[in-house]
Amino acid sequence: MIQLEQLFKQDRSHFMHPSTHARDHASGALPGKIVTGAKGIRIEDHQGKSYIDAFAGLYCVNIGYGRTEVADAIYQQAKKLAYYHTYAGHATDTIIELSSRIIDWSPAGMKKVYYGMSGSDANETQIKIVWYYNNVLGRRNKKKIISRHRGYHGSGIMTGSLTGLPGFHQHFDLPIDCVKHTICPHWYRQAPAGMSETQFAAYCAEELEKLIAREGADTIAAFIAEPMMGTGGIITPPQGYWAAIQPVLKRHDILLISDEVVCGFGRLGSKMGAQHYGIQPDLITAAKGMTSAYAPLSAVIIGERVWDVIEKGSQEYGAMGHGWTYSGHPICAAAALANLDILERENIMQNAGEVGSYLNAQLHAAFDQHPLVGEVRGAGMLAALEFMAEGDKPFDAALKVGPQVAAAALERGVIARAMPHGDILGFAPPLITTRAEVDEIIGIVRQAVDEVANRVV
Ligand code: PLP
Repeated sequence: MIQLEQLFKQDRSHFMHPSTHARDHASGALPGKIVTGAKGIRIEDHQGKSYIDAFAGLYCVNIGYGRTEVADAIYQQAKKLAYYHTYAGHATDTIIELSSRIIDWSPAGMKKVYYGMSGSDANETQIKIVWYYNNVLGRRNKKKIISRHRGYHGSGIMTGSLTGLPGFHQHFDLPIDCVKHTICPHWYRQAPAGMSETQFAAYCAEELEKLIAREGADTIAAFIAEPMMGTGGIITPPQGYWAAIQPVLKRHDILLISDEVVCGFGRLGSKMGAQHYGIQPDLITAAKGMTSAYAPLSAVIIGERVWDVIEKGSQEYGAMGHGWTYSGHPICAAAALANLDILERENIMQNAGEVGSYLNAQLHAAFDQHPLVGEVRGAGMLAALEFMAEGDKPFDAALKVGPQVAAAALERGVIARAMPHGDILGFAPPLITTRAEVDEIIGIVRQAVDEVANRVV
């Protein structure tokens, strides 16, 4: 016990946590949790208490915890060759094999893969590639990037700018000038009264068209979007959204970056979100599910059209001045290969589609008529409840209804995420979750929602 107290003291003294209230953590007002182990879809904390992790860490532990095959692959690779760089044509067998496997998981037209360690650094690379592409083509003004309000693309200088959430801009002097945000495609909260979902999809395309006209198409290089929004609130696009958006981008010669950090590698029951929604991207960002977070790895997947220009650029300007020391790290590549083996061998993507439909159907059954719930939404193993006051009005943010529900669920042994914007409870369970486990999650969450409803409705 003393040892544990000492650990928490050191944690409060020396460890800076991401997205954490600094003063509350340092003072101990935020109790903190030390995670000691995990198996399947459950994690265990320092008190020996077990929780169902209905958010798969941060939507990433797709094959579930504790798969020793991945640990063994990491160990074998570390013994054989723990590291070599991939600059100037160097490679390892693992990274070459992985690159072809990633292209197999991608929609048609994808050609090459560049590696990073996080979704943020991969999106940073995407924007450099887009700028390089337009410079090689002699279009020096075509550099602005359009993102969406409530999109999430990381928290660096560029990627934090692309992210369309005020909390990632305020006090950081972001977004930077070249990033412009268009409407969040949330039919339930953003559509003008009386508009159908398909009308709203057309309206989003018109809003995009207007933004392009205001800025000038010759100044806009790319549009970046998640196939289905994650951190901004787990928001399904309105019906017809992607079919309406893509022709606008084509018409103005604007590249499409599909940020598949959450949707990629099976979460929607498809290989990537692009296949689920009929998106034909020029560039794809992937991370999380590619290794199920057993090791940090991200990918920038480059389509033929962009790659051809990069090759042309190298003839004119020499090698591209872009690289990370750990790009294509063999240990992470070994983890990714073992993860993909498990995903494919055990039909985990199919399970995500089937059990994901069940999860969404059961959430609708349990919460469509609930007085605290305004909207139930989702696709595949990604779903959300949005809490609204009477008359479909948002709650006062100070009431923290979403965090209250998340805390009540946690108390009962289920981790679901209070999303950072609005009163939204998010679900992104590991893709191995069974129907029985879905029933358990929903049963517990129902108790949590009822408890908070008794307090606030
Ligand atoms: N893009 C999307 C869609 C994400 O959800 C995230 C993280 O959640 C990122 C990018 C950033 O990834 P990372 O946190 O690994 O930098």
